[in-house]
Amino acid sequence: MKVLGLETSCDETGLAIFDSEQINSDNQGLVGQVLYSQIELHALYGGVVPELASRDHIRKLVPLLNELLEQCDMKKSEIDAIAYTKGPGLIGALMTGALFGRSLAYGLDIPAIGIHHMEGHLLAPLMGANPPAFPFVSLLVSGGHTLLIAAHGVGQYEILGESIDDAAGECFDKAAKMLGLPYPGGPNIAKLAETGNPDAYALPRPMLHRGLDFSFSGMKTAVHNLIKDTEGSDSDPQVRADIAASFQHAVVDTLVKKCVKALKQAGMSRLVIAGGVSANTHLRETLEAELDKINATVHYAPPALCTDNGAMIAYAGFERLQAGQSDDLAVSCIPRWPMTELPAV
Ligand code: ATP
Ligand code: MG
Ligand code: FE
Repeated sequence: MKVLGLETSCDETGLAIFDSEQINSDNQGLVGQVLYSQIELHALYGGVVPELASRDHIRKLVPLLNELLEQCDMKKSEIDAIAYTKGPGLIGALMTGALFGRSLAYGLDIPAIGIHHMEGHLLAPLMGANPPAFPFVSLLVSGGHTLLIAAHGVGQYEILGESIDDAAGECFDKAAKMLGLPYPGGPNIAKLAETGNPDAYALPRPMLHRGLDFSFSGMKTAVHNLIKDTEGSDSDPQVRADIAASFQHAVVDTLVKKCVKALKQAGMSRLVIAGGVSANTHLRETLEAELDKINATVHYAPPALCTDNGAMIAYAGFERLQAGQSDDLAVSCIPRWPMTELPAV
């Protein structure tokens, strides 16, 4: 089944074609993908401007689809089904992709399905020849979410813990901003941290011993104070690298300890990490080392499938379509949408 996936929930226009008949160890069944980021458009305003995001998706969807088809050497008529992001996200941005996808499917007389953006992230590491089997604990760490989930099957998600304030990715982005690094902060902090000492400064590990919830807003204040105490964000390059490394270490340490606790609590031995922050090398390496000690394994997607993309939407769509699910002609997007409300497959 060849599924076209469309992602337009925020500031990225992502399109991809997943083909369940072309899964092999190299390509995850991914025939091709295109991604356009609106980062530069919004940089001027210091944050995503919803109306500008919607307009830019509209401008980009048709040219990107044509580019994708050319890349895949495919005709529109060869697409078997379309999956689009239905929520959560910015309502205007969601509507552009949903209406585009729904209408295109109607025109081609093929099924369409609306997908939960976070389910897309969660399932992305399962694309490919050797996916980790259910059940597993999923750590979803992205720009807007920090969730620990017991995943019993597609659509069977039990929330074990979540952030009570900022998301992990948001925390990276805010710390980066304070250090004068550009958005998105995660990869830039990670790069700066490479030359820093992770033990240079002791940063807090909030709520470490309290259940499986997270709190990251206190980290902001801690980084802010640290920068002030070390003479500002334009201090000595080594000090900046040490701050980045110490910050990254504190966030990773918190995430890893909660993952270990969640695996024990759920009685599971597989951890699947997803979302933009799961691209972080320090997080991956620390998890590998710590989970090895408790005979558990960690699974993740290639970096390009960790952040927003159309492939994860195509794949989540495939999982639901092959189980006989699809949406009717009415398009309804859901800006706030708990994952526990999804139907099981
Ligand atoms: P959500 O999925 O919750 O709606 P989003 O779509 O904006 O939010 P993603 O695209 O999954 O989030 O991820 C983007 C986030 O991931 C950003 O906060 C970014 O800083 C972070 N990120 C990306 N790469 C890395 C990395 N290597 N290390 C740490 N953080 C990273
Ligand atoms: Mg984004
Ligand atoms: Fe995302």
